[in-house]
Amino acid sequence: MHCPFCRSSDSRVVDSRLTDDGSAIRRRRQCPECGKRFTTVETTSLSVIKRSGVAEPFSRSKVISGVRKACQGRPVTEDDLALLAQDVEEAVRASGVAEIDAHEVGLAILGPLQKLDQVAYLRFASVYQGFDSLEDFEKAIEKLRLEAENAAARVSSGKQRPLTAT
Ligand SMILES: [Zn+2]
Repeated sequence: MHCPFCRSSDSRVVDSRLTDDGSAIRRRRQCPECGKRFTTVETTSLSVIKRSGVAEPFSRSKVISGVRKACQGRPVTEDDLALLAQDVEEAVRASGVAEIDAHEVGLAILGPLQKLDQVAYLRFASVYQGFDSLEDFEKAIEKLRLEAENAAARVSSGKQRPLTAT
C-alpha cells in the first residue's frame, strides 16, 4: 500500500489491533521514506449472492434502498436508515461468513427494522418471510403486540427484562 503522504510503495507495520467487535484489524503503519504514520483497516470481503447466482460486494446503500420502500410514509429519517444499514452490516460480519445470500441479508434487516418502525417491519417481513395469508400477518402482529406489552410491563414494574428469547 502506497504511503498517502509521499506515495512511497513501502510501509512498515508498527501496531496491529482487532476492532472491538472483532470484524476488522487496524494496522498502524510507518513510511520508511518520509517517516509519517498512517492507519489501514482490513476487513474480510463480504459478498452477497443474488438470486441469479451473481455475487456482488455487500453494500449498505443496497440495504437502504431495499428498506426505503417499506418505510414510505413512515416517520423514518435518512439517519435512521443509515444506522439500520450499519447494524445489518455489523450483524452479518459478526456471523463470520464470507458470502451470504441476498435473502439472508433481507432476514438480517428484520430485527433492526422491527425496532425502528413496526409498520415498515410488517411490510418488509411480508415480502422476505413470504407471508401468503392473512394468518401470517395476524401471527406477526400478535408477536409485535406481545413484545410491546412485555416492554410496557417492564417499564411500569421497573423489573428487569425477562430471560426469554425473543
Ligand atoms: Zn511516505
